[in-house]
Order: sequence, then C-alpha cells, then structure tokens
Amino acid sequence: MRGIVWFRRDLRLHDQPALTAAYQECDEVIPLFVFDEPLLQSHQFGSACVNFMLGCLEELASSLAGRGIMMQWRRGEPVEQIVQTATDWKADVVYWNRDHEPGAIERDRLAHQRLGKLGVAVRTFKDHVVFEASEVRGATGEPLQRYSAYRARWWNRWHATTPSVQPIPTTLANMNAVPLPPSPPLPSVSALGYDPVSPWIEPGERNAQKRLRWFTQGPIHSYARTRNLPAIDGSAKLSPHFRFGTLSPRMAIYAALNALAKGGRVSRLDVLTWVDELIWREFFQQVLASFPHVAEGPFRKAAVPPSRKPGPERNSLFQAWCNGQTGYPIVDAGMRQLNQTGWMHNRVRMVVASFLIKDLRLDWQSGERYFMQHLLDADMAANNGNWQWCASTGTDAMPGYRIFNPALQSKKFDPDGAYIHRYVPELAGLSAKRIHEPHLMTADEQARAGCRIGTDYPSPVVDHQLARQEYLTLGKQEVTR
Ligand SMILES: Cc1cc2nc3c(=O)[nH]c(=O)nc-3n(C[C@H](O)[C@H](O)[C@H](O)COP(=O)(O)OP(=O)(O)OC[C@H]3O[C@@H](n4cnc5c(N)ncnc54)[C@H](O)[C@@H]3O)c2cc1C
Repeated sequence: MRGIVWFRRDLRLHDQPALTAAYQECDEVIPLFVFDEPLLQSHQFGSACVNFMLGCLEELASSLAGRGIMMQWRRGEPVEQIVQTATDWKADVVYWNRDHEPGAIERDRLAHQRLGKLGVAVRTFKDHVVFEASEVRGATGEPLQRYSAYRARWWNRWHATTPSVQPIPTTLANMNAVPLPPSPPLPSVSALGYDPVSPWIEPGERNAQKRLRWFTQGPIHSYARTRNLPAIDGSAKLSPHFRFGTLSPRMAIYAALNALAKGGRVSRLDVLTWVDELIWREFFQQVLASFPHVAEGPFRKAAVPPSRKPGPERNSLFQAWCNGQTGYPIVDAGMRQLNQTGWMHNRVRMVVASFLIKDLRLDWQSGERYFMQHLLDADMAANNGNWQWCASTGTDAMPGYRIFNPALQSKKFDPDGAYIHRYVPELAGLSAKRIHEPHLMTADEQARAGCRIGTDYPSPVVDHQLARQEYLTLGKQEVTR
C-alpha cells in the first residue's frame, strides 16, 4: 500500500502520529509539504514566521534525506495540490494530523471529500494538542468557557488516559522505495515573497529538543518567579516550536513532569505553573474549535466602550503604537522588540495589548492582526484568545474595569529598566528612577540624561490617568444603554 504523509504544522519525526501510522500501515510512504499559495499571498503572517517555518522544513528535509528519503514539496492551492499528487503518485491513502483553525478545517473537509471521490482513503490524527476539544468537556458535554474548570478536567483526563509519546519509527529508511523523480531544493524565502531574516529563535526539531532540555534543566527551576521578568531568559521560548510542531506538546509535558520526578532543586510550583501555560494553550485551541466565530469577532459583547472612530487621530495613535513611539517606555520597548526580532515577552504582550485597547481605545482586532503579521510564533488560537482576554471580550477574560498602568507594570517587572534599555537606546542615560516615566524629568534632568522629551523621545501620546477614566466612563455608559 502506498501512503502520502501530508506535513503541515507537525514538522518533526518524533511523536508524529500521522507519520507513525503511515509507517506501520504502508509499504511505501511519501512525505509531502504543500506551500499554501493563497495563504502566502495574503501576508497574514510576516517574514519572521515564514523564515522560521522554512528553517524547520529545511531541517525536516535533511533529517529525512539522512535516512535516504526525499521529502517532496508542492506550491499552490493546497486541496488541488494534494488531490493532484495523490493521483499522480497513485496513492492509496493520505495521512495527516488535524488542525483546529476554521480555515484549515474547511480545507481538510474539501480534501477529504475530493480524495474520497477518487477512491483514496484519508486517515487523520490528533497531534497538535494533548486533548482535542471534544475530549475535555463539562458535565453535560458542553464546551468549557472558564479556564479553571477546563484545567481541572484536563488533569482528570491526563490521569485517566496517560497519553503516550511515540518514538521515531525505527525503520523509517524503508520508505525510500518509492520511485519518484528527485525533488528540487526548497524555495528560498525571497522566492516565497518574504524578506530573509535570521530567526531569533533557532528553527527545527533538533533545536526544539535542545531548548526543551535547557529549559527543563535550568530556568524551569525558578519559572514561577522569573517568567514575568522580560529582561531575563526566564521562559522556555518554545512557542514557535509548538506553532510549527517541531516539538510535541506531550513530550514537553513529560519532560517537565520528569524533571519534577527527579526531585532535587525543581519545585512543584515551578513545574506545574509551566504546565499550566501549556494548558492555557490547549484551552484557547479548544475555544477556537468550539466557538469558531471568535476568529471573526468578540466571543461576547462585554461592557467595553466603542473603539475610536477611523480618522487621522486614530491612525496616528496606531502608528505610534506599532512603531514603539508612544512615550511609554515599556510599551515602546515591547513593540520595538517585536519589530526587530519577531518576539515579545508574554508580560509585555499583555501590557501593550491593554495599552492599545484601553489607553488608546483602538479596536483589538487591529492589534491582533499586527501581532499575526510580526510574531514568529503567530498562532490564531493563542493570539485571538489572548487578545480577547485583554479586550475583556473573551470566554474567560480580564474584567473590563481592569486596566494595566504601564508605569507600574514597568516598575514591578523591569525595576532597573534593563529590558527598556535594550530596546529604547535614547533612554540610555536615564536612571532606574526615571526610566519608567521619562516625561516626569525636569529640564535639568533631561539635559543631564542627554534626552529631551518631545525631541529625542516622544511625550506620552495620551495621559494614562485621563485615558483610564475616559475608558471607564464610556464603559459604564455602554452598560446602561
Ligand atoms: C496579546 C497576546 C498575544 C499572544 N499571541 C500569541 C501567539 O500568536 N502565539 C503564541 O504561541 N502565543 C501567544 N501569546 C501567548 C504567550 O505570550 C506566548 O505563548 C509566550 O510568550 C511564549 O513564550 P514561551 O514559549 O517562552 O512561553 P512559556 O512561558 O515558556 O510557556 C510555555 C508554552 O505555553 C504556551 N503559553 C504560554 N502562555 C500562553 C498564553 N497566555 N496563551 C496560550 N499559550 C500560552 C506557549 O505555547 C508557550 O510556549 C500571546 C499573548 C498575548 C498577551
């Protein structure tokens, strides 16, 4: 029997259910990746993300080549491509791991239907999450809206099922029997229509494993305390790997729990706090799968004020936010980190999102889009879920009256300004006392620090206290309407 494994967001060999099943069931297996031309042309993702993906693909192709297998690739409309290749190569069955985004579900439904008409079987597998939406439900089978309830049931399910991690199939090399013409080298990032940039986080399955080892032997020991400090390497920086499936979430959770089982310096609190974050990831995947309308708009119309109307003022505030020129150093550092590296620390993501929505009163979907176009871990479920959390419109969201004070967040989580100094060089001469609110410097202080507010560094684009009051007042009016 001849099978095609359609790689998508599962660019690895270890614990890869579609690959493992194909290897167990077929005599000949062809690994295939399809560059989705309409998606590439939409520029919904940015260069950071596309460069990372290509790096992952290069490593996957090379790992397969090392076992004597040529990874095939195509470029075009994915359903057409998969149907065409299954026909050309006389495949009996196509294997893939499921994707829970609404567009991907529709794509897969069409591919399934078209292949079925040709007599080609389709086998699909759970992979991207430990538990799919249908596996973690409320008492009456309803999808869960509260993270705490979801988390409790997720753990029940974990203990009841003990998910397994599949090794790389040992005789993968048997797959090279298929007589296909050699596949050309993968296209360059420029040929795909994107700018070449070196990924800030190293791509590929081997790097994912290395990073997981580094994290579970080191920073996880103090994760509960250090994860909120943007100046230090306190979190795993594995999200792009989960996004493109160069690391299996099951393997990551077992690595963390094994670190705990070994005892020693690792505390239960640190390890379980980290696993909680992976459960948040699954929670948002579940929200997207259960309530696909969130991809298009708010989950609920909460008591939030209407966002600012389109026009020059709105545009200039949005540009100031995008370019890191708001006059709020923690916001500017975060946005510049994103623009320069494709990355932003989680705490700072929350601060800049709250600032966009509640201080600038701009629509959260503009921020959501901007993040998708710039993050190298851009993921619809996590990005949408977190933006809706910050906008107070999500299933389990921050209360509408809660508004981050950027200066207080900055003092608490970047007390000596080390993170700000890294990304806002014009504030290099400022002391830890002044770095969080440079506009409070006197003229003398500005001269001493070599930084004139309004010239070298912007004055605040809005006054936080006034903006906060306005947001709350407009929010109340919205409730009473
Ligand atoms: C406005 C906003 C937008 C975001 N957009 C994305 C996005 O597009 N893609 C993305 O992967 N994450 C997104 N996040 C979540 C979070 O910021 C990143 O997952 C995290 O910073 C990744 O860093 P890490 O791997 O070091 O995380 P760690 O702290 O080491 O956590 C481990 C893993 O848990 C998951 N995780 C952690 N925090 C969250 C969270 N809040 N929600 C969902 N999963 C989480 C990630 O997969 C992460 O790799 C967003 C957060 C906010 C506030």
